[in-house]
Amino acid sequence: MLVVGAGGAGMYAAIAAAKQDASVLLLDKSLVGRGGATIMAQMTVAAAIGHEERDHWADHLDDTLAAGRELCDEKLARLLCENGPARIFEMDRWGAHWARGGGGRIRQVQAPGHGRARCCYVDFLNTGPGVAGTLRRQVSTMSGVRRVSNVTVTDVVVHDGRAVGAVGMDVVSGDIVTFAAKAVILAAGGLTKIFRRNSASTNMGGEAYALALRAGADLIDMEFVQFFPIAHLAPRLVGMDPIMWDPFRYKLGGRLLNGDFEEFMHRYGGQDSGKYTTVRDQASYAILKEVEAGRGSPHGGVYLDFRHVPDATLRDAFGPVIDRLATNGIDLTKTPVEVAPTAHYHMGGIRVDERMETRVPGLYAAGEAVGGANGANRLSGNAITEALVFGECAGRAAGNAAAGTPSGWSDAVGEDAAVRLRRAADTKPDDGVPANVLQLRLQDLMWEDVGSFRTGGQLRRALDGIREIRETPAAVHAADGYNLDLQDRLELDAMLTTAEAVARAALGRAESRGAHQRLDFPESDPALVRNQAVEMKGEEVAARW
Ligand SMILES: Cc1cc2nc3c(=O)[nH]c(=O)nc-3n(C[C@H](O)[C@H](O)[C@H](O)COP(=O)(O)OP(=O)(O)OC[C@H]3O[C@@H](n4cnc5c(N)ncnc54)[C@H](O)[C@@H]3O)c2cc1C
Repeated sequence: MLVVGAGGAGMYAAIAAAKQDASVLLLDKSLVGRGGATIMAQMTVAAAIGHEERDHWADHLDDTLAAGRELCDEKLARLLCENGPARIFEMDRWGAHWARGGGGRIRQVQAPGHGRARCCYVDFLNTGPGVAGTLRRQVSTMSGVRRVSNVTVTDVVVHDGRAVGAVGMDVVSGDIVTFAAKAVILAAGGLTKIFRRNSASTNMGGEAYALALRAGADLIDMEFVQFFPIAHLAPRLVGMDPIMWDPFRYKLGGRLLNGDFEEFMHRYGGQDSGKYTTVRDQASYAILKEVEAGRGSPHGGVYLDFRHVPDATLRDAFGPVIDRLATNGIDLTKTPVEVAPTAHYHMGGIRVDERMETRVPGLYAAGEAVGGANGANRLSGNAITEALVFGECAGRAAGNAAAGTPSGWSDAVGEDAAVRLRRAADTKPDDGVPANVLQLRLQDLMWEDVGSFRTGGQLRRALDGIREIRETPAAVHAADGYNLDLQDRLELDAMLTTAEAVARAALGRAESRGAHQRLDFPESDPALVRNQAVEMKGEEVAARW
């Protein structure tokens, strides 16, 4: 069987499938275990293990459902919360160095929206690398898992209504490659690269969603993109995670101030004074509203201020990080930093059942690629748990199913996808605009018109813009082997499909809820406490209730 994408979800899926004696090919367009969001995550993983204080997965579920603004797929949310502790302990046995307190208990902190201290971490800046490293080591011990880096999948092949393999390109040689598989798991991560301001790595262009749509699966909740409220904006910060201010706020509070150095969260229903309690959608909303009202900081965000925290306390909490900040010229005892929302995570995604199977038999999904568990807004720490839990479920279910399934692959069934790929590679250099320039146009358009605040007019304009970009020929220069133009072109195709799915779903939801804020419909509508789906109707991306 084939696992597409080797972040936290893909690696966990490969391990779980191999435990079912499946023969697994784990591939990634980047390096296995080193691309995507998992390795970038620096903070916490939420699970009700109850080491810091009494806790139960049912309480975690209550908090997750409350944050999801009535839209969570309760079965998936339950799966996430109920199985989170088992994954934390399994990772612990595999050598994840969760931070420990007295008596060997795993340390946990309380993050906004969680009713308890339930978020585990490795150390505050190394959680993602710790998780990815543990899974890489574990994968390398599994003889049933073959790892392939630098292969990008461009189509899942479906024959007789069943996923039977995939077609892709070796990004180093430029060769077209085909994969026969009895089951395919899409674990290719999120979509935040379709927005200009994002916290993503370069390979998070929403390909999982486009692959699923083209294969005949449907998507859910695509209108709900999470904007992380306090991403670093200024002064310039090199070599550090743009969302690193979250752990500072967990530990030290910090004050969020507008351009006039006043606290403002209370104006928008938050309770933030010196603490960190406001959930993400509400905080993003408040910051953008202050900026819009002309009360922003010089670079268009707000201030995050730790000047009231003594140097010794800062050093005690974040010693080495304080030194790294100093090399960037930032002294938190003297200067507030500027922060602003950035596209960070996607609540929507591929619709699956509790076995992580899509409506296309043999096609599964895992991790951020899956939609529904977090509804209209995700709690911090739930995304890595989702990757681990859903990865394990998908791998187990797909590994089991593959055992009793004959191969449906032949070269003939992969031919259409191979032709599509050859056609993309054939584009002449003088025909059009470089694909990376078209990607930038798309990112600008998505940020301006499909960002944190949307109106029907903006969303219609965005859909026109997406069509225009799609109709603009992308220039691809010929190259022997490694061809960045071609990779950009293939990624652009997927980004456009995914961007359209987000814009269509956002246009369809005429209300404001969680991360989806419509200026022309500022209230939530009780009649819209239901999920919207997106699917392909012929060549068209269509939303349906
Ligand atoms: C900066 C940052 C910090 C974060 N911090 C936290 C945190 O502290 N706590 C938390 O819970 N969550 C956090 N998140 C979110 C969380 O990290 C992700 O939701 C989660 O790691 C996703 O895991 P995944 O395996 O689904 O996807 P990823 O880890 O993104 O892996 C997807 C993989 O798929 C590959 N891929 C993509 N397209 C293709 C293709 N066509 N063919 C082949 N391979 C492909 C990519 O190269 C990538 O390696 C953070 C995210 C970011 C960006």
